[in-house]
Amino acid sequence: MLSSKELQRYSRQIMLPQAGEDGQKKLSSARIMIVGLGGLGSPAAMYLAAAGIGELHLVDGDHIDLSNLQRQVLYKTNHQGKSKAMVAAQQLAAANPTIRIHPHNQMANESWLREQVKQVDLVLDCTDNLEIRHTINRVCYQAGCPVVMASVQGFSGQLISFDFSEGKGPCYACLFPPQEQAEVQNCSTAGVIGPALGVVGSMQALEAMKYLMDLPVSSLNKLHLIETETLALQTLQLPSHSNCPVCNT
Ligand SMILES: [Zn+2]
Repeated sequence: MLSSKELQRYSRQIMLPQAGEDGQKKLSSARIMIVGLGGLGSPAAMYLAAAGIGELHLVDGDHIDLSNLQRQVLYKTNHQGKSKAMVAAQQLAAANPTIRIHPHNQMANESWLREQVKQVDLVLDCTDNLEIRHTINRVCYQAGCPVVMASVQGFSGQLISFDFSEGKGPCYACLFPPQEQAEVQNCSTAGVIGPALGVVGSMQALEAMKYLMDLPVSSLNKLHLIETETLALQTLQLPSHSNCPVCNT
């Protein structure tokens, strides 16, 4: 049963036919891990906390730097030097004190992720590092945990989701084989426009909420290319790849 405070707090989404009280209960009982609390993780976490996701696991081992503030909207100027995970947890708890928030002030490595992913229903990959993205893909596939992945460079975003809960591919490695990606830049070496991260990070939160409320998830097995400079949106179906090293699809 939702309390009267919950009915009031979430009234604008409960009144949606796609959500209703049932949808809200699903969100309230869900556990999400957000890996990476930067430009994508900030808006994603803010919307998921506000929407009443029951439990959020916030993973980032970085500290807040002045150069983060142009796009990482969870953080304020006086947070410089502090742990992203700890500050994010404080900010989100202030926005919604009724949910459980677990900050993890550490970088996500494979063995740690393997343990932690058992405790959540869905993972958001908000990292800017391809090696970690492939690790998240592999760990989530093996654990049968759905994942919503995104990245942004410059004005261009990508978004894709995988539901591994039935133990099947495709997966991120079908789309981008690990060995072909050695030279791709990450955010610390390439420029990025802040609102593009806001758009794509918000889309990650949206896709996660749709998944949890049993609504159709448009980004499932489909790569969405979001070009914010022209506002063009392109959707690519995954190739029926063979010999994927992760999922054997
Ligand atoms: Zn695969």
